Amino acid sequence: MSRVYNFSAGPSMLPEAVLKTAAAEMLDYKGSGQSVMEMSHRSKTYQAIIDECEALLREVMNIPDNYKVLFLQGGASTQFAMMPLNLMTKNGKADFVVTGQWATKAQKEAARYGEANVVASSKDKTFSYIPKLDKATFTPDADYFHICVNNTIYGTKWNTLPETGDVPLIGDISSCILSEPIDVSKFGMLYAGAQKNMAPAGLTIVIIREDLVGNASDICPTMLNYQTHVENGSMFNTPPCWCIYVAKLVLEWIKNEVGGLEEMKKINEAKAKLLYDFLDNSKMFKGTVVPEDRSLMNVPFVTGDEELDAKFVKAATEAGFVNLKGHRSVGGMRASIYNAMPTEGVQKLVEFMAKFEKEN
Ligand SMILES: *Cc1c(COP(=O)(O)O)cnc(C)c1O
Repeated sequence: MSRVYNFSAGPSMLPEAVLKTAAAEMLDYKGSGQSVMEMSHRSKTYQAIIDECEALLREVMNIPDNYKVLFLQGGASTQFAMMPLNLMTKNGKADFVVTGQWATKAQKEAARYGEANVVASSKDKTFSYIPKLDKATFTPDADYFHICVNNTIYGTKWNTLPETGDVPLIGDISSCILSEPIDVSKFGMLYAGAQKNMAPAGLTIVIIREDLVGNASDICPTMLNYQTHVENGSMFNTPPCWCIYVAKLVLEWIKNEVGGLEEMKKINEAKAKLLYDFLDNSKMFKGTVVPEDRSLMNVPFVTGDEELDAKFVKAATEAGFVNLKGHRSVGGMRASIYNAMPTEGVQKLVEFMAKFEKEN
């Protein structure tokens, strides 16, 4: 068996220890005589798994008691509609900072239900930075203020959160959940598709302050109403059972093997630094993001020559560094170095890039 270093933006690598546990428990989960994929979500055995997953998430992320944790489906993309349907219901307005494709989609979807104001955008420079905000442009009676905390495609991250006062701040943390500590209390709601840094595709995490639940519009479908899922412990219908189980294993790995999110952050910073330092010193490769807004998770870079980019991606793939091709809107390359990417994988990538630079 040989495993590649997978730099995919998502679905992406899972910790090897997690995959091994999942494999070992596949045929007989803890003496139940069945896999987690096969068991009733209403069974005691499964209830213990989802309860443990929530407890671990609360512990690892330090989620305050007045927040609900929901395990949903439909991806982060379904949240783009659930947010306005549930929250844009008092004044019919919300503010958005447009920092990339996902932030744009959140704003466009909300605009179908109310006034979705763009307070700032970094589209002018292919979203290569986080815009500076002017509070005077904020809507004082907005129902929420939305940001995408880590921009997966463009490789930027919010390092300082906007001060939105009484307007609930909502953060899309799909590609940075569990990568470092985050102060949940600064947000009204956080959400994440799990397939980047937490679990297989199919699970969406929502962390929502209690007072924001129960305000859905009359036309909000039952399945899209946060209250439905709060009242039913994320079991109004069949939850993504297997994904929740793997998320639990990932959380155990972070808590017990890594030592929590402060430690995870140190590892991620050191890992990202390896790559950024190389890019800053390379004559061939160059990062596309302004240094102060660089993501720890997604690192886009280019050579400036499309043919050379393609040659590099091909050579890297042959050498076992896969999924390095950049998003079509940025071009070049992108290395997604989520929690599960070992430091060794980034070290070896940097060595490979140095060798490629020398030879070309
Ligand atoms: C991947 C991603 C999404 C979309 O997630 P889906 O689960 O595929 O809907 C949204 N926002 C961010 C930041 C992402 O990285």
